[in-house]
Amino acid sequence: MLDTVVRNARVIGRGAELTDIGVSGSRIVAIEPQIASDARSIDIGGRLVTSGFVDTHIHLDKSCILDRCNSTRGDLAEAIGEAAKAKASFTPDDVNARAKRTLEKAILQGASHMRTHLEVDPGVGLRSLDGVLPLVREYSWAIDLEICVFPQEGLLNNPGTDELMVEALKRGCRVVGAAPYTDSDPHGQIDRVFEMAREFDVDIDMHLDFGSTADNMTFDHVCRRTDENSYGGRVAIGHVTQATSLSLAGFEAMAKRLAGAGVALTVLPSTDLYLMGRGHAHDHNAPRGVVPAHKLLHHGVNCSLSTNNVLNPFTPFGDCSLIRMANLYANICQVGAVTDMEECFHMVTRRPAELMRISDYGIEVGKSADFVVLDASEPALAVAEVAPVLYAFKRGRMTVAREPAKLLRPA
Ligand SMILES: [Zn+2]
Repeated sequence: MLDTVVRNARVIGRGAELTDIGVSGSRIVAIEPQIASDARSIDIGGRLVTSGFVDTHIHLDKSCILDRCNSTRGDLAEAIGEAAKAKASFTPDDVNARAKRTLEKAILQGASHMRTHLEVDPGVGLRSLDGVLPLVREYSWAIDLEICVFPQEGLLNNPGTDELMVEALKRGCRVVGAAPYTDSDPHGQIDRVFEMAREFDVDIDMHLDFGSTADNMTFDHVCRRTDENSYGGRVAIGHVTQATSLSLAGFEAMAKRLAGAGVALTVLPSTDLYLMGRGHAHDHNAPRGVVPAHKLLHHGVNCSLSTNNVLNPFTPFGDCSLIRMANLYANICQVGAVTDMEECFHMVTRRPAELMRISDYGIEVGKSADFVVLDASEPALAVAEVAPVLYAFKRGRMTVAREPAKLLRPA
């Protein structure tokens, strides 16, 4: 017995053939043309059905604080300082309300899975965790949300932070993160984070090598620790904007190192563009600071594109649309080939799902019925046209519906 049939869908990997998708309970149970059933059906007229978008790197706890901050330089140090000042007055209710606003936006844009990075330190304590943690259960009807705890203001230089990270892991954070570039001992922070990951058997997702030059990069140290701990496939690094200053040979060597160690890389195009290159802006145009991830894919590195910050000093933008982020990335990184454009689509869908080790993902019989209908016919065009989400389903239930815009011609 079917509950819902999505008719005339285009599904990646099936060419131009249109198919129906049958859903029973929370599962996809049939993918074949013209399913005979009188269950409720929607005819999507040849539009693209894809598994939901996967945002591996977003900060719900510090989203929507633009009105409390004062940015003039627009660089990373100022953003960290302004956010730290704002954090002092965070309360669980305040964090909860802002995080909810951003989370609902992401759901409306078709996100089905999300990893939110959450800060703890002696200043904010566990108040942000208290604000965000209830949302995991409250919004499970629409999105799988997991929390990555990390020390934005340093770990070894900031006494009390270690204990708070451990407490957050005990209370249900499923991933541990890092920001070694704000630590007095970057390698020491990386080593301690690997220890915590081993102790709690959780994955690692670090902010890493966020800066404008290629000096003192730490990805090699992360790869070494990944090998030593047999953590390949369980480690991701985000930003890595320093790699945009590497020579092409250096960039290729980094790609091979990451691929060999099984370390994935997440690009945050909106933040990286906004924060990088500020030091050059006095007498030259600012260089951009976004890693060309599609070139890393060619070397076997898994990569995702994610939102990162929303309406705060790190990024005063944000509609939480990952298809827009893929389009932004494609523009910046001069993506033109259709296969690379398709990869931009994969970097907000199946590739981040792989990064987060979500096994129950994909348009296949037996998988969870988590999918979106895009107003597009194929992935590359969905990226090129920033195709809107018309419907989203989570575990078989419709969670989002959006009417396509209509032209109102004169009579
Ligand atoms: Zn981040």
